[in-house]
Amino acid sequence: MFPNQVVDSFRGLKTPFYYYDLDVLKSTLSEIKKHGLKRGYHIHYALKANHQLHVLEIIKEAGLGADCVSGGEINRALEAGFEASQIAFAGVGKSDDEILVALENDIFCFNCESPQELEVINSLAGKMGTKARIALRLNPNVNADTHHYITTGLNENKFGINEEDLDSVLNQLPELSNLELIGIHFHIGSQIEKLTPFEQLCEKANQLNNYIESKGYELTVINVGGGFGINYHHPNENSIPDFDGFFELFDQHINLKPHQKLHFELGRSVIGQSGSLITKVLYTKEGRTKNFAVVDAGMTELIRPALYQALHQIDVLTSELPPKKYDVVGPICESSDTFRKDIEIPEVRRGDIVAIRSCGAYGEVMKSTYNLRPQIASVFSDDLG
Ligand SMILES: *Cc1c(COP(=O)(O)O)cnc(C)c1O
Repeated sequence: MFPNQVVDSFRGLKTPFYYYDLDVLKSTLSEIKKHGLKRGYHIHYALKANHQLHVLEIIKEAGLGADCVSGGEINRALEAGFEASQIAFAGVGKSDDEILVALENDIFCFNCESPQELEVINSLAGKMGTKARIALRLNPNVNADTHHYITTGLNENKFGINEEDLDSVLNQLPELSNLELIGIHFHIGSQIEKLTPFEQLCEKANQLNNYIESKGYELTVINVGGGFGINYHHPNENSIPDFDGFFELFDQHINLKPHQKLHFELGRSVIGQSGSLITKVLYTKEGRTKNFAVVDAGMTELIRPALYQALHQIDVLTSELPPKKYDVVGPICESSDTFRKDIEIPEVRRGDIVAIRSCGAYGEVMKSTYNLRPQIASVFSDDLG
């Protein structure tokens, strides 16, 4: 990932910055094509993981659609060249303005999360004299076995329509004449590393699919969302997730009717391993019980460790000294501004360059200006020449 000439180019750049290895992205997309698109699956890339235009253009080129969770993301997807007919719009709190953006562009489908939202979309579509295609986001009550901040498919989560409310929603639908029900949608969580939760999801989706079709609806879209995890512990050995196993599982367990297509919304697994946060050691501090390496990136550039206790591998790119134990910390005035604790890395000095790995997803998009931190650059491997 970081041959000498890449590290040499890093020396001339102002840190911190995000670095995207587009070869990793392209190899990942090839696997998705080979195992997913070839099976006839529709795969929407979840923009919320990373919305860099350059990244989006490459993903679009590979044949993926877009999954958006805000009006801003819908506009960005269109700007990147996605067709409106490839854009799905999810989210538990769609504002009127955002719904209007989606209606004006006649996007593919709204993934709807509550009875009240159905009424609002119906009424706005009516005012515009148009019809909205919708899928019901159903809460399958499947435990994704991931960090509790990123499970989304349990009854206690705010997302989706719970099973006990399904009948009343189906009864309400005939009155909502500006809505066309085309599918069902699920999303059980993120960074799901074991496949078992997806197997449970398939079972639930099959049941609900049969049930809703038995009520006289024709569902053409079975959308099982995203959530497939990446290997944060071994980003080099596992730079591409096992898409063969992932799509094969759905092939085995989902029961599609002849008029139905399977849809996915993958975010992290598409872009996660392509990105790194490149940062410089500002200071080293020898404590009585701890050594600290203070780097020039902080939770303002990468909040995942502070927000979800996420682990990122740290590679020292410019030191080959013997290993030493450090807490690698940022400059922000919060104790949670710590990337790793008690990690063994080659001894570092002021000015050494460090890569925080697997940051392509939910990294740069979550940056903030807390402490009035400056904007940072995004560098792509094809910029380096
Ligand atoms: C976040 C999200 C995704 C993408 O999740 P990943 O874990 O990044 O694959 C897909 N669908 C919906 C509705 C989401 O909210």
